[in-house]
Amino acid sequence: MTAPVRAAPSGAATFARAVHQVLVLNASYEPLNVCSVRRAHVLVHKGRAEVLERQAEPLRTATNTYVRPHVIRLVQYVRVPQTVKRRISRRALFARDGWRCVYCGTAAGRLTLDHVVPRSRGGDSVWENVVTACAPCNLRKGDRLLEELRMSLPRAPRAPAPVLFIRLALHRVPDTWSAYLPVTDEGHQPDGSVSSAAAA
Ligand SMILES: [Zn+2]
Repeated sequence: MTAPVRAAPSGAATFARAVHQVLVLNASYEPLNVCSVRRAHVLVHKGRAEVLERQAEPLRTATNTYVRPHVIRLVQYVRVPQTVKRRISRRALFARDGWRCVYCGTAAGRLTLDHVVPRSRGGDSVWENVVTACAPCNLRKGDRLLEELRMSLPRAPRAPAPVLFIRLALHRVPDTWSAYLPVTDEGHQPDGSVSSAAAA
């Protein structure tokens, strides 16, 4: 028997929608994704997840009353491949890079997507080869390689962690989720530093 879950009323505010979403953490507490209350309830009911945070209002079925989960944690660790192919979007890319040009640091003006190794030089459209660039830097770089321009990257580009997509999908992060959603991924990867000097 599946528990009937009230659908969010149409035209509901973002907050109301968030009430019907559940944050899913890996066994390691790393944020994985967001799912529906119904899906979360099934996972908990099957013993595959535990409830870390609940909502005040219980989940009622015709015959029973259950905890309404808001944050759950998988009991078994789910291996998330590093190469998980999340489609590249400008919004996610700009968010990953902190909404700044990676070359000059400006947050002003129009931001663009730049292929570090230009496509004309064999560069792929993968997270590891795309960065946020302001229009002037993108124009200046053109079809050339960084070492040809003495330009450098503050850090090696890489695919964003799931938490970035979770944050982007939400207009407002519920208060109870904040503690579980690290903000360190958004363009701040101090260990991934790369420069053309180091590459030379
Ligand atoms: Zn720039």
